[in-house]
Amino acid sequence: MTVLVVGSVNADLTVRAPSIPAPGETVLGEDARVSPGGKGANQAVAAARAGASVALCGAVGRDPFREPALSGLTRAGVDLSGLHHLDAPTGLALITVAASGENAITVASGANARVTPAHLPADLRGFTHLLLQGELSPEVTREAARRAHAAGLTVLHNAAPARTPDPDLLAHTHHLLVNEHELAAFASAFASGGEDVAGQARDLLAGGPQAVTVTLGAQGSLTVTGDSAYRLPAFPVTPVDTTGAGDTFCGVLTAWLAQGHPLPDALHAAGVAAALACTRPGAQDAMPSREELAAALA
Ligand code: ADP
Repeated sequence: MTVLVVGSVNADLTVRAPSIPAPGETVLGEDARVSPGGKGANQAVAAARAGASVALCGAVGRDPFREPALSGLTRAGVDLSGLHHLDAPTGLALITVAASGENAITVASGANARVTPAHLPADLRGFTHLLLQGELSPEVTREAARRAHAAGLTVLHNAAPARTPDPDLLAHTHHLLVNEHELAAFASAFASGGEDVAGQARDLLAGGPQAVTVTLGAQGSLTVTGDSAYRLPAFPVTPVDTTGAGDTFCGVLTAWLAQGHPLPDALHAAGVAAALACTRPGAQDAMPSREELAAALA
């Protein structure tokens, strides 16, 4: 194993409906679809599809949503020996997609919220990279980063969804990954004087990370390090569904870094993989295989 993901596992329950219901309203939609989700699981699957050896630490319940929640991880060959089966409901995301393409999402964290530092792996030997997101408790995410940092792993942290930034977590992060919205949360919490995205990203380097990547949707990504900046345009595709694009980017970037590729090459591969994920509906189902990514990069 080289990549450890400590993160959330959900079942996504999606209903397409004419509109998002207003408070008190009932809307009749199409058949519900259950698919695997959760940022931790999504990013673990993206990394494994990109050829990395990946383990996931997190939790699910013992209920009927466990099986669909784990189906993508199992298919991608992610090591689940560090996954905990708790007496709590499996995390569930209730997603309504309107005909306009807008969506409304309610997440019942369930077992994800029951993960504590005691569930973290005692032994980090064999891992080179830790990939974190923001869907477990801040206490667990911070402790995972601290331990991995002390053990010499490279810590990547995708600060999504946006919440109040944690300076201690930032201090133990080597590579921070945010979208524009999440960057704004950091800029306001740390009173960044940066006037543009690059300036705000560069200001965050003072908090600990050696690299900050801002994903910019159809505009690609921007990465700053102490002495370099990489501005990568998006790989041109006709997007069908951008769900999971950010998760694909984070998983593939980590996988490529863990496989020894230089940062610019890993960023390029992550951007191409994320674009390919936009060409198909769904999150995990849309992520490209290693062969498909290699063909697009050739
Ligand atoms: P998030 O979904 O976390 O908000 P972004 O929307 O910034 O993340 O997308 C993550 C990455 O996915 C982008 O940096 C880009 O590489 C890729 N991407 C997203 N939307 C498109 C698009 N329309 N065309 C091509 N690539 C895209």
